[in-house]
Amino acid sequence: MDKKDYYEVLGVSKNATDEEIKRAFRKLAKQYHPDVNKEPGAAEKFKEIGEAYAVLSDANKRKQYDQFGHAAFQNGGGAGAGGFGGFDMGDINLDDILNDLFGGGFGFGGFSARGRSTTSRSRGQDERILLNLTFEEAVFGCEKDIKLDLDVVCSKCNGKGGFNEKTCPTCGGRGQVLEQQQTIFGYMQTQKICPECRGAGKSYGTPCDECRGKGIVRKTKTFTVTIPEGVDDGYQLRLSGKGNASRNGGPNGDIYLEFKIKDHPLFERDNQDIYLHVPTTIVEATLGCKKEIPTLTGNVILEIKAGTQNGTKLKLKGKGIKTPNSLMRGNMYAIIDVIIPSKLDRKQKSLLEDLAKTELDNSSEFKDFKKYLSK
Ligand SMILES: [Zn+2]
Ligand SMILES: [Zn+2]
Repeated sequence: MDKKDYYEVLGVSKNATDEEIKRAFRKLAKQYHPDVNKEPGAAEKFKEIGEAYAVLSDANKRKQYDQFGHAAFQNGGGAGAGGFGGFDMGDINLDDILNDLFGGGFGFGGFSARGRSTTSRSRGQDERILLNLTFEEAVFGCEKDIKLDLDVVCSKCNGKGGFNEKTCPTCGGRGQVLEQQQTIFGYMQTQKICPECRGAGKSYGTPCDECRGKGIVRKTKTFTVTIPEGVDDGYQLRLSGKGNASRNGGPNGDIYLEFKIKDHPLFERDNQDIYLHVPTTIVEATLGCKKEIPTLTGNVILEIKAGTQNGTKLKLKGKGIKTPNSLMRGNMYAIIDVIIPSKLDRKQKSLLEDLAKTELDNSSEFKDFKKYLSK
């Protein structure tokens, strides 16, 4: 079978940083997770993504892969992949990877357990909400009111679904009934969940009219959520136990908040780092200057040295964005954009023409260039 290139699978370049690989995986994992994506092929795609990430996120495995490609992991290691033979793609535990990446209890835990469980008390459904934030709200944190419809326990019947509790007459409290079916082999008996009490073994003389016997009702709930400083696109915030009520007395689901952050007109964001393009005149870049520039925390004076080239990146340490729930902070980078004047008045033009008469092109770059001009 032809395997796709791991870099291609994650949509990153061959020299992607660990952080880029992680980010790409996070994004794809969320998109294709079988809990979220029910389209055919999503599970296979998810596995493919997980496999690519398992290899590329591990410095050693990545090196092997770069050198030998997929052959590094086939037939016990393949030629020259010494010491690496035991790696088996079947061993990849996607839940482990996801937990590593998203922190415990990402809610994907159910990937392996949910659906197979036969216990009667299931968790309520999780909810996912996408919140739009301005650049400043994401950078400095904020409080947001969120409003959503959730299943909540019916307050009238306390979630029971009715009043005058009695043992279910249909199943005698067992929760299951025997069903006889005539088949070509004769009568067969099968056990099935009691249709009257749906397995609870109890029924109610008077069904609750508020929830129509379901024990839960749909209600619009409003929460005030504190968004920590520094969240970014793709960051998830879990509100544990704030999701839908269970339909049979189990714990509530969770709410997952995800963020979509608006661009800033000036500051560009890359994770926790900030980039700012600083328009600079040819004179400022040539002679050097002190220039006032904005930062997230107010203006500062940037020193531009004489002879600064276009595109020069100046680092302002710790002037970036805080990492949520951590003391770490990114950096800010001021990028010098030398603006070549496109309109000159007569005086400016004549000053430049005077300048042109001097030997401006005596630096090594010009000399090397001229060497290769044909005579
Ligand atoms: Zn019953
Ligand atoms: Zn009720």
